[in-house]
Amino acid sequence: MEKEVNMPRQTNILVIDDDVARLKTLSAGLQDMGHRVTTAITGQEAVALFRKQPFNIVLAGVKLPDVSGREILETTKELNPEVAVIMITDRANLEAAVNAVAEGAYAYILKPEVMYELKTLINNALREQELLIRNRKLVDSLQRSNSSLEETNRALEQASRAKSDFLAKMSHELRTPLNVIIGFAELMLDRVPGEVNEEQRQCLDDILTSGRHLLGLINEVLDLSKVEAGKVELRLKNIALSEVVESVTSAMTAVLSQRRQNLDVDLDEGLPLVQADEARLRQVFFNLLSNASKFTLDGGELKIEASRRGNWCQVSVSDNGIGIKKEDFKPIFEPFYQADNSIARERKGTGLGLTLVKEIVEMHGGQIWVESEYGKGSSFIFTLPLVAASKTLS
Ligand code: ADP
Repeated sequence: MEKEVNMPRQTNILVIDDDVARLKTLSAGLQDMGHRVTTAITGQEAVALFRKQPFNIVLAGVKLPDVSGREILETTKELNPEVAVIMITDRANLEAAVNAVAEGAYAYILKPEVMYELKTLINNALREQELLIRNRKLVDSLQRSNSSLEETNRALEQASRAKSDFLAKMSHELRTPLNVIIGFAELMLDRVPGEVNEEQRQCLDDILTSGRHLLGLINEVLDLSKVEAGKVELRLKNIALSEVVESVTSAMTAVLSQRRQNLDVDLDEGLPLVQADEARLRQVFFNLLSNASKFTLDGGELKIEASRRGNWCQVSVSDNGIGIKKEDFKPIFEPFYQADNSIARERKGTGLGLTLVKEIVEMHGGQIWVESEYGKGSSFIFTLPLVAASKTLS
């Protein structure tokens, strides 16, 4: 690549001078250097030539009898912005030459040193032109890639919205008949329409378990698709974390005591209020705590901790359960992913809980991640913005 830039291309040079003798000398000198040279005696002739064929270097006297060097400069630049116009001048017209450079000419050469300086000047001009052309090509191709990326992004966003809309509608339509199925199974189990024998009772139990599982799945799909379609708006309030934790843990008491699992809650004293949507935050705690219980054996230990980290509150929900392998740390937050373990299979999760939790935490501006040692336990850690760094709970 470097080499290419250092090697000037063969050049098409247009030389304009009303002094025919000098024109010939210049032209011969440039041809000796290996350039292709065309000559013009008047400015008009030069402009006509320039319109017909491309030149990359123009050598022009500052004062021509018919047009000024400045007009030559304007016309050539208009036809080819990259052209290098080198003005040839004597001391008497030096000011005009300097002005021409200020207006975009590449350089000027003082007579009579013309041939001496010309070689270097032309080579430099050619290198710069090469770089300019290459840059323009790069910018062009970047712009093309950018706009095709933008188009792809737009299409992807549209497809994703359409998918979320479809899922939201479909889930909604599925819920109504499913609730009817669950309702009638419950009625029959309660013997409202009449007695059922043991075999029928078991069948009804199966219908109910599967129906409830399916309803849970549909509700989560509906929730997630609403979040993804941007249809969920957070109702942010200033909340005491302790109250949310309290309400979730009391709702979980029966499940935890049935499994003889101990829950330890350790919230830093004086933790400032967090800014969050209360119902959504409860959903986060509920999902994480249910998972902690679900993936921990009977008699296990669960813990909720919260502390202040600058303007953030950091919360962790931990267990000493089955743990998670490193390779599953990322995918467990993706929809429908369940790490390959017997508990996940046995307890029939949906694989959507953590995806929803992550979406909710991120909608609040926070982050969530997992730390775990396989076989020893897991901690799900997330952050929430504090209302005001200075405001503390009394
Ligand atoms: P679900 O619990 O319905 O399967 P989630 O999205 O809540 O779906 O969790 C995805 C997967 O992450 C689970 O199937 C499980 O493999 C793993 N996981 C989640 N929480 C824990 C935990 N506390 N301990 C071990 N594994 C967990």
